[in-house]
Amino acid sequence: MLIFVMLKKHIMQFLKSTKLYSIFTGKCPVCHKGEMYLEKNPYKISKLMEMHDHCSHCGKKFKIEPSFFFGAMYVSYGVGVAISVATFIISYFIIGIDRNYSFLAIILTLAILFPLIIRISRNIWINIFVDFDEKAAK
Ligand SMILES: [Zn+2]
Repeated sequence: MLIFVMLKKHIMQFLKSTKLYSIFTGKCPVCHKGEMYLEKNPYKISKLMEMHDHCSHCGKKFKIEPSFFFGAMYVSYGVGVAISVATFIISYFIIGIDRNYSFLAIILTLAILFPLIIRISRNIWINIFVDFDEKAAK
């Protein structure tokens, strides 16, 4: 377990100041310091969508325009398809499960990962429009 914590720390250090850092951590896309979500854990479903209005560090407004995160649905479609294809390849070709059970595996994977897919999609969506600013990070 400790090795995973250390590995994660090193990977995040490597990704710092890239868009991937903000996408995977849910931090502000401008400064990478403030949290975007009220609840860090996406599996607390009742708080899944609740976000701060502004970044606590740099003051960036997250909801850039009304219904801004509506567009994240398009991203979540793409993320969902990518996860489905990956699940099918792993279960059918690598593990060798029957085709019908592979589709069951896809459904289960999407059901289990849906809070993460929603969060990642929102993070990708805001990172399309907002860039990292080194000055704001200080
Ligand atoms: Zn910020």
